[in-house]
Amino acid sequence: PVRVRFAPSPTGPFHIGGARSALFNWLFARHYGGALIVRIEDTDLERSTRESEENILNALRWLGLDWDEGIQVGGPNEPYRQTERLDLYRRYADTLLESGQAYRCYCTEEELAAEREELLEKGEMVRYMGRCRNLTPQARAALEAAGRKPVIRFRVPENHVIQVNDLVRGEVSFDCSGIGDFIIVKSDGIPTYNFAVVIDDHTMGISHVIRAEEHLSNTPRQILIFEALGWQIPEFAHVSLILGQDRSKMSKRHGATAIEQYQAKGYLPEALVNFLALLGWSPGGEEEVFSLEQLVEHFSLERVSKSPAVFDLDKLNWLNGHYIRTASLERITELAIPYLEEGGYISQPLTAKKYEWVKMVVALVRDYLNCLEEITDHAAIFFSDKVDIEEDEAREIMAGNQVPAVLEALKAKVTTGPALTEAGARLLLKEVGKELGVKGKEIFMPVRVALTGKTHGPDLNRIMAILGQTGVATRLEQARS
Ligand code: GLU
Repeated sequence: PVRVRFAPSPTGPFHIGGARSALFNWLFARHYGGALIVRIEDTDLERSTRESEENILNALRWLGLDWDEGIQVGGPNEPYRQTERLDLYRRYADTLLESGQAYRCYCTEEELAAEREELLEKGEMVRYMGRCRNLTPQARAALEAAGRKPVIRFRVPENHVIQVNDLVRGEVSFDCSGIGDFIIVKSDGIPTYNFAVVIDDHTMGISHVIRAEEHLSNTPRQILIFEALGWQIPEFAHVSLILGQDRSKMSKRHGATAIEQYQAKGYLPEALVNFLALLGWSPGGEEEVFSLEQLVEHFSLERVSKSPAVFDLDKLNWLNGHYIRTASLERITELAIPYLEEGGYISQPLTAKKYEWVKMVVALVRDYLNCLEEITDHAAIFFSDKVDIEEDEAREIMAGNQVPAVLEALKAKVTTGPALTEAGARLLLKEVGKELGVKGKEIFMPVRVALTGKTHGPDLNRIMAILGQTGVATRLEQARS
């Protein structure tokens, strides 16, 4: 059965890259009807926090990625936090010590540093040269008596080559002679990442390890441990790096990298999921808009690219705009309200009438949004009677000869007519044109500028309906003086 895992280290905010790994695992599990396990790799005691763990798990849920087993949901392999599994790692470390596939190393920092230095000088690959590999029991007892606290190192077999048929990268082989006996348990008893990950992947029955390319170099070490314990080796799939537009590794320099930052700006989870899926995967063809269900249906590792993915914010904005326009108006309104409140435009609770009005505003401006945060700019004209005319083109329009008459006539009609509707507004504009013998643009443009301060924007009739009689009249009056 397909069993995959997402294994974040809770050492900071949840990044785009981590979210993509989680998504690919989720899609793979769902596509094959398998299980996704989420475990927390918190063996870096100094940098791991519960806060970051919460942050990651909340973001996963927000993206709509659920898991079948693991932290918070439980399962047969509890606990799912590595710091709560130390006994298990100790047991397997003992197994390796007993069989001689691991040994205690007493080297001090200084000794190791000197060794590194020496290797560098000789131009050789830096690795542990095995000083403690074959200590006699007497030598070991002496070191223990001297109070040295040992680490446990894995004894890397000599003349061994490891072949991996990576499901993304293809055949990769590693010559073990460059690895050096590596640490599996630190002197404080905490396992290293490479050791804990293998024990967990085995005991949790993981069939496929899908993760970021940066872990490719760890894979031979992990395979050595699988081999030493006589365990079946899972399939591996290493997904390429994510690069910024300038083709260097994606970092803060390139803009927001944390999922919560996108959430805060008002990106929709389905837009992010759609976008993340296309970071390194494509189903072929021109289509770029995919629902979660469609992604599940089409996803395969065969179509994950070996070459790096480039983070394209324009594409994310385009996708997000698409989802903002096509989601239900109720949902977008609910999501937009906090931004309008934050912008000081409205305060909760809204009356039913006001809510309906806000909905009209949202319906009108949502076509123009890349993310919901931008609504405060686009909706500003509806929340303040003060209209600033800043564009030169707009000023020129307002200087036209006919303008005062147009504004005056429209104001009269608006004030004396019935409550403004879209159709009603259209009719009034037409009447003004007929009466004054001016047409089209010469009416719409000054009215638009008078109402919004701009020469471009949403449908004028709808703007008038939203502003209502008083709103329109006040602005027309202001523009005349
Ligand atoms: N804890 C590792 C990380 O966050 C996961 C590595 C793995 O998937 O094996 O990078």
